[in-house]
Amino acid sequence: MRRASPAGVGKVWLVGAGPGDPGLLTLKAARALARCDVLVYDYLASPAIVSLAPPDCEKVYVGKKAGRHTLSQDEITALIVRLGRDGKRVVRLKGGDVFVFARGGEEAEALADAGVPFEVVPGITSAIAAPAYAGIPVTHRDHNTAFTVATGHEDPAKGPSTLDFAKLANRKATTIFLMAMSNLAGIVAKLREHGLEDDTPVAIVREGTKPSQTTLVATLGTVAADAERAGMTAPAVVVVGDVVRERERIRWFDAQPLFGKRVLVTRPAHQADDVAVRLWEAGAEPILAPAIAIGPPDDPAPARDAVARVRDYDWIVFTSRNGVEACFDRLGELGRDARAFGDVKIAAIGPKTAAALAARGIRVDLVPPVYVNEAVADALLARGASGDRILVYRAQDARDVLPETLRAHGRRVDVVAAYATRFVDDPAFAAKAVDSDVVTFTSSSTVRGFVHNVPNAAELLATKTVAAFGPITAQTARDAGIRVDVVPGEFTVDALIDALAAPASL
Ligand code: SAH
Repeated sequence: MRRASPAGVGKVWLVGAGPGDPGLLTLKAARALARCDVLVYDYLASPAIVSLAPPDCEKVYVGKKAGRHTLSQDEITALIVRLGRDGKRVVRLKGGDVFVFARGGEEAEALADAGVPFEVVPGITSAIAAPAYAGIPVTHRDHNTAFTVATGHEDPAKGPSTLDFAKLANRKATTIFLMAMSNLAGIVAKLREHGLEDDTPVAIVREGTKPSQTTLVATLGTVAADAERAGMTAPAVVVVGDVVRERERIRWFDAQPLFGKRVLVTRPAHQADDVAVRLWEAGAEPILAPAIAIGPPDDPAPARDAVARVRDYDWIVFTSRNGVEACFDRLGELGRDARAFGDVKIAAIGPKTAAALAARGIRVDLVPPVYVNEAVADALLARGASGDRILVYRAQDARDVLPETLRAHGRRVDVVAAYATRFVDDPAFAAKAVDSDVVTFTSSSTVRGFVHNVPNAAELLATKTVAAFGPITAQTARDAGIRVDVVPGEFTVDALIDALAAPASL
């Protein structure tokens, strides 16, 4: 539900998105994004942050990559004023902080002049965060008592520099230049002119806080040539001063085992978010490429009917979170809730399924010690009696070992297909796979969905690191001719990191 503001006037949030790592977005920024009607963003905003806006929110890309403006600043300012006047809830998202070389001041002035209500949500500036992620503290007791953030790209219309290079030429007072890459040689020359020593440490941090972060450490004497040779281009911050030396000791972000690795996540989209967040935290770049999607079964009637007469059973068995979700969707359609189960006993295949039930107010009666169908059957046989009526609420096309074992021991079992797993047809899938360093398979069906989208899977994956979660998934991959490098026990990023940390893996 969108709330229109009183008198039809909207509101504009000038929001700092932080330097790139989505984890550095503030809670307030995330809340503003989640509620906006229109999102106005530029090239520094990471896709993971843009995707926090509601699906039906209008997204307006306004460019602003140096020299390649999609809209001019005046047009952007006019746009947000107009949208605000039209009664929209507008988020104007900017890289880093709103008021650090981001023309947020001008936009706020225009909104104030136009009488459009607005709020400012400061963001973490790249001036501090990019050095931090490179292991460079902008202040340090041993080195400096002040730091300066300066533009390396002064408005050419303003004539000669207003920067006081005499003051900046001090290795004990950190200077951080933004937008300096096209003018680096000029900046270096100015600092030398004002007496800054050639051996003063200088670092350039490009794409700071992202998995693509690169850092160049040089000295004032060498940095211009080194940066040219290394192809260091915008967006990058240049840090000048003795604090740069700290990187040797406190480098951390780009020292992590998964740093910079592009990790393909093939599990269904609705289960990928928490993994993506952990991958970001580990310095890796998640590439979301769901190979399968969960949808209704071919014939939805049996699952619906079973839910309607759920009390006929002694036990209900859930073999996945998806089954729990499908069951509660059906219950909801009938206008009912968890009370429908009465004292019917409930079994879950593992802790995640049990947690999905707990979230809906159901405390499960049974979780087997090992999270496979065979163990569910054994545990149920130990708990019940011959003649028990058992409903197995599961995926279409699942293995039959559970109902068969139960029936062989005199249980009366109904199996219903609660949902179906279908392959995703994604024309961009193969390109995403080519782009990745590590490919993860969480289930046998993700392997099959991958092969469905990438017919030459074995060949394409020959140069990648392949992680398959659990032995059954690994076997499915091997059966498809895919070499499997690591088999973490469970699908958590920590297990993946541990498995990949073995030096032979990457
Ligand atoms: N408001 C932004 C700065 C915008 S000016 C902030 O507070 O960070 C654009 C400049 O910011 C770029 O030219 C570059 O110098 C710097 N910048 C932005 N994001 C960066 C990043 N992830 N890594 C390094 N520099 C970045």
